[in-house]
Amino acid sequence: MAYDRSNVFARILRGEIPCKKVFEDTHVLAFNDINPQTPTHILVIPKGEYVSSDDFFEKASDAEIAAFMRAVGRIAREHGLAAPGYRILANHGRDAHQEVPHFHVHIFGGRDLGRMIGKAPG
Ligand code: 5GP
Repeated sequence: MAYDRSNVFARILRGEIPCKKVFEDTHVLAFNDINPQTPTHILVIPKGEYVSSDDFFEKASDAEIAAFMRAVGRIAREHGLAAPGYRILANHGRDAHQEVPHFHVHIFGGRDLGRMIGKAPG
């Protein structure tokens, strides 16, 4: 799947639409989800053009991957989630219902998150 530069996270990265930024460095931007599912719901994205986790894990440089994973941990810690716990999640493709085709990790926290994943619909 080719990267689509009109996706909403590409537009956020270009500053065309606003976001509530919580972290930024050379390789990474993080901001609050517009429709939070938990008291803390942060999206962490690479600045590079990667469609999904599959694309990122295959093609990103070691520096990008290291910066990304360090950022996820740091953001969770700085939001007070390390002690009570949190969940990270990345949707890739159809079966995972990925909506935005720019790789992102969700950080969920701030309440008991239950165990693992929900049942399939229907
Ligand atoms: P996905 O299903 O692709 O893993 O999750 C996409 C996430 O992006 C959803 O949780 C959705 O609420 C969030 N989202 C979609 N559009 C925007 C936006 O314009 N701004 C922000 N901050 N989040 C968005």
